[in-house]
Amino acid sequence: MGNPSCPVPGCPRTRNRNHMMCRECWSRVSKDTQSAVYKAWRTYSRVADTASDAAHREAHDIYFAIRERAIREAEAA
Ligand SMILES: [Zn+2]
Repeated sequence: MGNPSCPVPGCPRTRNRNHMMCRECWSRVSKDTQSAVYKAWRTYSRVADTASDAAHREAHDIYFAIRERAIREAEAA
């Protein structure tokens, strides 16, 4: 079973299944964005099973918005 590819445009590497992007790209993301990603992911994981659809959707949107920011930072660096 192979690892999924890194989502950063132009990056040829694969990422660990448990990580958002490959280690090299992640190291270029600012600390602020990294901690925002962790926070959003924790919230998303917590509501995934228990919360209402609305709360689930909101947490999902927040996580994917911060994910996009991380990818742009990795790409621009
Ligand atoms: Zn990468």
